[in-house]
Amino acid sequence: MLEIHQIPVLSDNYVYLAHDAASGQTAVVDPATTDEVFAALSDKGWNLTHILNTHHHMDHVGGNLVLKEATNCTIVGPRADAGRIPGIDIEVGDGDTYTLGSSTAKVFDVAGHTRGHIAYWFGDSDALFCGDTLFALGCGRLFEGTPDQMWDSLSKFKNLPGETKVYCAHEYTQANAAFAITVEPNNQALIDRKAWIDAARAEGKSTVPSTLAEEFATNPFMRPDSIDLQRTLGLEGADLVTVFAETRKRKDNF
Ligand code: ZN
Ligand code: FE
Repeated sequence: MLEIHQIPVLSDNYVYLAHDAASGQTAVVDPATTDEVFAALSDKGWNLTHILNTHHHMDHVGGNLVLKEATNCTIVGPRADAGRIPGIDIEVGDGDTYTLGSSTAKVFDVAGHTRGHIAYWFGDSDALFCGDTLFALGCGRLFEGTPDQMWDSLSKFKNLPGETKVYCAHEYTQANAAFAITVEPNNQALIDRKAWIDAARAEGKSTVPSTLAEEFATNPFMRPDSIDLQRTLGLEGADLVTVFAETRKRKDNF
């Protein structure tokens, strides 16, 4: 089992430490910055052994080279985008596994936000590190991919257990909730969740991680089969990619 520690950095990024107590190995997931990572490592008394990157954006790889220089850690990242991952040592892609001490991650290619985005699922720890692909009540913008690709990527998460914790890379939840309620206004689970989120944010609390079960029940980007959503969009009976694409488009303009 991994012990996972969340580090808020920049305006709304989350960096994670994932520590395998049995072996003492510790990974940092998507280190946007370094000062806060060094401070958290020293607080915890953990030695950095790995960096796990989900995609090439600077707010996910910005700390790679400084951390590697300081700790000689191993950098793991997407094979499909290896050329844009600073200092990458080990390239992984869809269906690969990567082992951190006694914890094994399954890797998924999840193109859409970028063309080389990956996610790491540590099944034994119920932990999904999904970068900017799935957010609490949202999904990443389509900078380098199509709605087809992104829907295919998100669909891969539908096969994972509902209790899986969604360790996404940004605290976007409150803005996502404000949008979600406009496209699925009659979803009681969403109404309840939005109230909880607004209260948590009013107290400055993190709303991440959520669980996949919560996302299946309330995240419009995971719910193109929802009749309520389809009705709001004027797309009753449309195919799922069409509904997903329209939802993404409306969020872009929200
Ligand atoms: Zn990004
Ligand atoms: Fe990001």
